[in-house]
Amino acid sequence: MSHQTTGIQQAVEHHCIGHKEGDWVIFTCPICRDYQRLINCKTKQVIVRKGKSNAVHTGSHSPMEINLDSFSNS
Ligand SMILES: [Zn+2]
Repeated sequence: MSHQTTGIQQAVEHHCIGHKEGDWVIFTCPICRDYQRLINCKTKQVIVRKGKSNAVHTGSHSPMEINLDSFSNS
């Protein structure tokens, strides 16, 4: 796999907002009410509930030092 992304069309990007609940950081999209991404601080487990949106969701959570290099999806 290469890093070329020239094939992507209509890459609408939604910036998610994260908040912490216990060991989990929960990102929600201000646009897609049924989108959620949950990241466990300890295990790095990621759970994504995409809902009906096809948008690319990105986000960061500045108070937490979590490596979110791969936090994007299509
Ligand atoms: Zn969204």
